[in-house]
Amino acid sequence: MSDQPLRNVIIIGSGPAAWSAAIYTSRANLQPLVFEGAFTEDNRLKGTLPLGQLALTTEVENFAGFPAGDLSGYYSTAFDERKAAEINSTHHKQGVSGPELMELMRQQAKNFGTEVITDDIVSCQLGEKPFVLKSLSGKEYQAHAIIVATGARANYLGLESEERFKNMGVSACAVCDGALPRFRNQPLVVVGGGDSAMEEATFLTKFASKVYIVHRRHEFRASKVMAERALANHKIEVKWNSVIDEVLGDEKKGVTGVRIRSTVDESQTEELDATGYFAAIGHTPNTDFLGGQVETKPNGYIKWTVPFRTNTNVEGVFAAGDVADDNYKQAITAAGSGCQAALDAERWLASQGHE
Ligand code: NAP
Repeated sequence: MSDQPLRNVIIIGSGPAAWSAAIYTSRANLQPLVFEGAFTEDNRLKGTLPLGQLALTTEVENFAGFPAGDLSGYYSTAFDERKAAEINSTHHKQGVSGPELMELMRQQAKNFGTEVITDDIVSCQLGEKPFVLKSLSGKEYQAHAIIVATGARANYLGLESEERFKNMGVSACAVCDGALPRFRNQPLVVVGGGDSAMEEATFLTKFASKVYIVHRRHEFRASKVMAERALANHKIEVKWNSVIDEVLGDEKKGVTGVRIRSTVDESQTEELDATGYFAAIGHTPNTDFLGGQVETKPNGYIKWTVPFRTNTNVEGVFAAGDVADDNYKQAITAAGSGCQAALDAERWLASQGHE
């Protein structure tokens, strides 16, 4: 039996969806409790540490309101001279990094009274109300409503060399990292054969001198239109029937290339020069702790059961961000859906008389 007070709403997760949901529910006086995750070795290896996927990126250039680069010129065109000088002396001059953006959102939620616990929720009972949640440290919590915002984790091949060069040329998000200086006018490698690989490779041609797609079979899984677009791009070369044997590099330069191996004749290897390696072999939504109690789509992402709402099949459980998004997967769309989930939860709680 829980010795904790019964909560209006518990939010699980600590990415942009979770913090937006926390900001909105705390401003609505619902006194939300956020489980931001635990700093465990298991979470580190899986890429599910507190603050989510953005904490694993460097500069964020595409979150509206946080322009990147040297902002002095930006300020001087956006504001008058006095205001520009004032802002220049106090604001970031190089945009915002993913971890900073998350820290800012977290603090913003706390400023409105959000309670944050640094622990994982490992299981839950959603069959009866109030819902019961169990944490990794063994405590039980109860809530009328839950917002699941646990995100998704990028799949990597699992090579030791991939791990070593993360943030030094290894990435799983071309949209997040592709425009960084180390990837400009250089050959890059994308591994995978689905829509993500096509999209990432096509996107990277904006910056790269050449993009190799390394795919383990002789045909793509991707939709025809996206595969054709990639194949028609003169900067893209496909290495069919090939797997990544090793990401090559050193501690100073980071990634310098990859060694690929043929899946037809395993004795055949080839080295490709590249300053970047992008894994695009799919994502896995973080839903294990739900124990199958919340309906998911065939690909594992939580299903929204009411059009344009964040409701799930369990009344009182809402889902926001990447855990329910197999399409957009952007920080700003996650933040938007966190706001939606907060409003949906607030209205549902009011309809149940929990205000
Ligand atoms: P996906 O469709 O599951 O494709 C994953 C790709 O990675 C497959 O080609 C697979 O190879 C390869 N792969 C998986 N594990 C591998 C391994 N261990 N070694 C080497 N290759 C491996 O994943 P996705 O591309 O991320 O797409 C996920 C969903 O999002 C899809 O429904 C997709 O349509 C959608 N999506 C849509 C868009 C868009 O419409 N704009 C963009 C991105 C994603 P095999 O083919 O051999 O299995």
